[in-house]
Amino acid sequence: MRFTYCKDCGTLLTETLIGDEGLVPYCEVCHKPHFDYAPVCILTMVINEDNEVALLKQNYVSKDHLVFVAGYYKPGESAEDTVRREIFEEIGQEAIDIRFIKTHYHPRLDTLFLLYITTVKKRPFRLSSEVDDVNWYPLPIDESLLNKEGVAYMIYQAYKAL
Ligand SMILES: [Zn+2]
Repeated sequence: MRFTYCKDCGTLLTETLIGDEGLVPYCEVCHKPHFDYAPVCILTMVINEDNEVALLKQNYVSKDHLVFVAGYYKPGESAEDTVRREIFEEIGQEAIDIRFIKTHYHPRLDTLFLLYITTVKKRPFRLSSEVDDVNWYPLPIDESLLNKEGVAYMIYQAYKAL
């Protein structure tokens, strides 16, 4: 996303040449550049001590496929804090080990995804209102459960390659 107006004072931005960055939207009132921006979203496989993965049914995300835990980064957190918070909020599990895998820019959502694999100690699920259902699935899973175009499928491929 590119800023048109200053996010602090609302002035229409001009384009100013800033070194190697090229033309950057600039506020002449605040004397500040406003660099292009994309929201950051974490997505994580959640695996327990029995080598089972949590697959979520979230009808607002997909009617046909299952997904992994995901959620938007909030300023003030580390990305690992976001992973820990989202796993607890969505399915009531506590992260023990959080392993970063890779990043992926999603053009349609204009969002940067950070992909993780998180280990938890299995405990009873407690679902947020955003989650319609969740179950543990022994690994490896049937890949047709995931959307082949989706980010969850991408991280599952990365997991298999480890
Ligand atoms: Zn301004």
